[in-house]
Amino acid sequence: MRAEAIVDLSAIKHNVQLLKKTAGTKLLAVVKADAYGHGLVPVAQAALSAGADYLGVALLEEAIALREAGIDAPILAWLVQPGSDFKRAIELDIELAAASLAALKEISDASTNKKAKVHLEVDTGMTRGGFLSEWDQIDAEHIKNIEIVGIFSHFARADEPGEKQNEEQLTRFNEMVARLHSFGFTHAIRHLSNSAATLKNHAAAFDMVRTGIAMYGLSPDVNTLGTSQSLGLRPAMQVRAALYLVKDVPAHTPVGYGATESTSADTKLGVIAMGYADGIPRIAHGAGVWCAGKRSPIIGRVSMDQFVVDLGAASKAKSGDWVVIFGNGSHAEYTADDWGAASGSINYEIVTRIGPRVPRIYSAHVY
Ligand SMILES: *Cc1c(COP(=O)(O)O)cnc(C)c1O
Repeated sequence: MRAEAIVDLSAIKHNVQLLKKTAGTKLLAVVKADAYGHGLVPVAQAALSAGADYLGVALLEEAIALREAGIDAPILAWLVQPGSDFKRAIELDIELAAASLAALKEISDASTNKKAKVHLEVDTGMTRGGFLSEWDQIDAEHIKNIEIVGIFSHFARADEPGEKQNEEQLTRFNEMVARLHSFGFTHAIRHLSNSAATLKNHAAAFDMVRTGIAMYGLSPDVNTLGTSQSLGLRPAMQVRAALYLVKDVPAHTPVGYGATESTSADTKLGVIAMGYADGIPRIAHGAGVWCAGKRSPIIGRVSMDQFVVDLGAASKAKSGDWVVIFGNGSHAEYTADDWGAASGSINYEIVTRIGPRVPRIYSAHVY
């Protein structure tokens, strides 16, 4: 085996239970983007078995894949493109977000045999999706064929709990909810919090929280919110690979494309058959692998299918040995947080971009 991502579903269950208890509300498990790279269906099943009330995805295709896998829990898809097959979505009982009058009309027009279930997305300051100026124009006519089951919005800065924008968004959300209530839709599920807000902003929990990254055991921001460990979360993904080749190399030997780095002393280098095609960031500098009980840093540029690490002259590693690219940090291996920092990115991107060439294996972590 070249490389694999081992996903610990018991960690996901633990995280779901912790988050649901913290929120004290319903919990929507965010499983978009192949469950942040962890695998859509196994993660969805694990989250539901741990008490998740809803599943949330971006795309209609993702919601359909969940239904085709036999999952009958409530599913919300919030980024359904105009012109999509809304009739199919309604038949499959997939709940839909609407963020404009045009979307409401399209969903309404598709609601001939069965009423669509809709969550109104409102823009409270993120300035991405959601109703903004059109919010004051909605009237009974726009929603007469559909069932309004929810109202939601999204925080821009929940990972910076001290920022005033969080309070402003909360106030605006309450105002926008009040307008919906004035039409008599007082049963709509109100949901605003992502992982960061679930952990740090209890005033924003409302009726349901939507947790993504924390459910995978990762901190929304290690600098502002603390590490997985300090938050009580268990990282679910470990990526490991077998050393493809180990060889002795003299001091001052340039390594890789562009000869951007050279060995500083006589050493042993390890070649790993993973590259940016597998989601290892080309720009990563300062990350590496955990091999034979120690950290071995990347040397030179990551290429499409390979990268090189400096194992050190004394290393006993040999080709075929397993190395950990990132894991939960319990053995001093690099974490998805380390890889994020080493790439000018975030843990979200590191796990989500692990490519389709890397098989997902479901089991407890093996070191
Ligand atoms: C991705 C997403 C979430 C989850 O955010 P996390 O920071 O991963 O918890 C919640 N809500 C919406 C609308 C999203 O797009």
